[in-house]
Amino acid sequence: MDPVRAVKGMYDVLPEDSIKWQRVEAAFARTAALYGFREMRTPLLEPTRLFVRTVGEATDIVEKEMYSFAHHDEELTLRPEGTAGAARAYVEHHVHAKEAVTRWYYLGPMFRAEKPQRGRYRQFSQAGGEIFGDPGPGCDAEMIDMLVGFLKAIGVPGVEVLVNSIGSGDTRQRFRDALRAHFEPKKALLSEDSQRRLETNPLRILDSKDPRDVDASKDAPTILEHLSAEDRAHFDGLRSLLDALGIAHKVDTRLVRGLDYYTRTIFEIKGATQKLGAGNTLVGGGRYDNMIAELGGPSVPAIGFAAGLDRLLIAAEPAGAAAVVDAFVAPLGAAAMGPALVLARELRDKGVSVEADTRGASLKALLRRANSLGARLVLILGEGELGRGVVTLKDLAGHAQEELPKDRAVAIVTDRLAAAGAVRREEPSS
Ligand code: AMP
Repeated sequence: MDPVRAVKGMYDVLPEDSIKWQRVEAAFARTAALYGFREMRTPLLEPTRLFVRTVGEATDIVEKEMYSFAHHDEELTLRPEGTAGAARAYVEHHVHAKEAVTRWYYLGPMFRAEKPQRGRYRQFSQAGGEIFGDPGPGCDAEMIDMLVGFLKAIGVPGVEVLVNSIGSGDTRQRFRDALRAHFEPKKALLSEDSQRRLETNPLRILDSKDPRDVDASKDAPTILEHLSAEDRAHFDGLRSLLDALGIAHKVDTRLVRGLDYYTRTIFEIKGATQKLGAGNTLVGGGRYDNMIAELGGPSVPAIGFAAGLDRLLIAAEPAGAAAVVDAFVAPLGAAAMGPALVLARELRDKGVSVEADTRGASLKALLRRANSLGARLVLILGEGELGRGVVTLKDLAGHAQEELPKDRAVAIVTDRLAAAGAVRREEPSS
């Protein structure tokens, strides 16, 4: 039989890497909690119409990237992003009636059938957050502040913040008309996709990476010229708050973002990395003040963001291999197995991570295994040790070897590891 491989554009995370994922996810959860965000989780499957209505019919995601299927009489889609599901949950659970402002964060896999390349996958993970009930721009600035802090904390080099306003209500329509008027005479020069976008969603032409579209967009009108006075004040407010927070940012008038639901503030955060090529956008976000009402809820303003964890891990190069365990317990001979397992459990009860040999391997093989796990200490229990009521302790860093009274072994090992600053993966529960 042909070997079975992972689905194209999807990949496994093995333990050497999952430790990096855990650190970045924990750093995100910690930062989000500091800013008052609480975790929420939504199903991976949602009704297809949720994304059609929110993300928008004429977007790349809905037009060609969704994993959608019919199951009996339901049209379902594997979620391509997290905001729509969070907004659906907000409406479904009448959250607006319980609190004036809601700050939620989430972590998890998203699915888009894109052309796979480095930093672009068909299953990827996002860390996202939403604030419902606050029209901004204070919370818009705070969200960006939180993200900049998080990216710096995990070691992303050259964090760059880009902001724009996409206006609201009439602004959007006026801008669409202005763009159509600009591109119509150049229609033949546009890519095939953008010729179509001219009818369906001319904003997306600004978002295109195709050189023909980039060229035709050079002298295109900018949305900032079309903002209403209120939208303008909101955008200026955001910028001055970012200044107050000391967050350097650039206005990118071509920033439109690939989803339809945005209003007013939109932003992206990039990192200075060669490793992601053109796809170096690490975080995308923006305001979506109309979505809650469009989903059948009350009129509640909202803003959200999503950071691509796969890309963050590439950009941040988090430090690798930590020790798998602190100590290794090596029984020599069948009679030592029981006492060795008891000793291992006593150490674990004190918060020391331990692997005990349960194979009956030779001393040489045991030491090789202990080394490969990064264990600092090896506790050897052979027949001689059992008879004398001792344990042989071998320090793999200092290569010293000594005998410890068995009833003092746990306390001594715990002290030694603490003094050596050995990594504790978890605090002991008592
Ligand atoms: P979006 O939901 O398209 O605004 O994307 C937000 C962030 O998710 C992007 O800035 C990327 O970091 C990440 N992202 C989006 N699509 C992918 C993908 N196909 N593979 C990996 N990361 C992605």
